[in-house]
Amino acid sequence: MEQFSAGHTPNPPCTPARDGAAARDLRRLPKAHLHLHFTGSMRSATLLDLADKYGVHLPEALRSGEPPQLRATDERGWFRFQRLYDIARSCLRAPEDIQRLVHEAAEEDVRDGSRWLEIQVDPTSYAPRLGGLIPAMEIILDAVRTASRDTGLGIRVLIAANRMKHPLDARTLARLAVRYADRGVIGFGLSNDERRGFARDFDRAFAIAREGGLLAAPHGGELSGPASVRDCLDDLHAGRVGHGVRAAEDPALLRRLAERQVTCEVCPASNVALGVYEKPEDVPLRTLFDAGVPMALGADDPLLFGSRLAAQYELARTAHDFSDAELAELARQSVRGSCAPEDERRRLLAEIDAWLAG
Ligand SMILES: [Zn+2]
Repeated sequence: MEQFSAGHTPNPPCTPARDGAAARDLRRLPKAHLHLHFTGSMRSATLLDLADKYGVHLPEALRSGEPPQLRATDERGWFRFQRLYDIARSCLRAPEDIQRLVHEAAEEDVRDGSRWLEIQVDPTSYAPRLGGLIPAMEIILDAVRTASRDTGLGIRVLIAANRMKHPLDARTLARLAVRYADRGVIGFGLSNDERRGFARDFDRAFAIAREGGLLAAPHGGELSGPASVRDCLDDLHAGRVGHGVRAAEDPALLRRLAERQVTCEVCPASNVALGVYEKPEDVPLRTLFDAGVPMALGADDPLLFGSRLAAQYELARTAHDFSDAELAELARQSVRGSCAPEDERRRLLAEIDAWLAG
């Protein structure tokens, strides 16, 4: 499908704007990227390299360079997605692999017009190969600092707990995340299958994170419906929601998100790849936008879904007929929803206005 082909291609073809004029280049629209997972940000070619380096046998789905067919709406499909993700992650074994991953993710983001990146990682899953949890954390944050310096992209880190693990593990991770708050960690997340367990099992971990000054940004409203978004708000006091797109099914919840200006990190290509929605047109971008719910479009896992940041905005333009003024507003929402410092936000908002005026 079209949105899957944009992964490593140069500029996407210029699509006509609604008024018939040549459309503004969405790769030049400044934006903040708030939903990108660590291993999932890897280039396919890099995965092939690393698998070769370590003699890891990759399944065909990861070898072809084409996004695999995934249907995660049933448990088997989700399991398959997680298994592919785990195999890819097992190819990241040395500090230089982590450095390379983050550097390339930053390069790809810059190419797509990202001006601020908040990347999400569960360091526990890298810890065994990197000498433990603290060394893994240090290596990851070092890589982020170096990549940020080398590419000029502002990068911060969300530490994400895994809801398939014990809530006590999440508390440990939250304490660790808080300890690194002055070293680039800005938020605490919760990922993996929303259909397992309850958000409230993780309320203590999120309280630790919030009390330590971190943003609460759990996943919700992707594989599960509006109730899972409400759980994120009520039980975890989410300041931002990973996905959250299924809130579209509940007008009262939409009003609540809009009133509180809780940003939903909506990942359209991911939603279609995982079967949350059948077609790009079915992702309820319009419903959220018209309800006044702020969104930050994100790529989630480009390695598995085949498209990066600009392609998500392209999809809003082509599948949902967003005008350039509306696309600029989406970009503003991403910036406002970010943890970027105030002066950086002001600068980016001015640059978005300049893009629209240009
Ligand atoms: Zn995610």
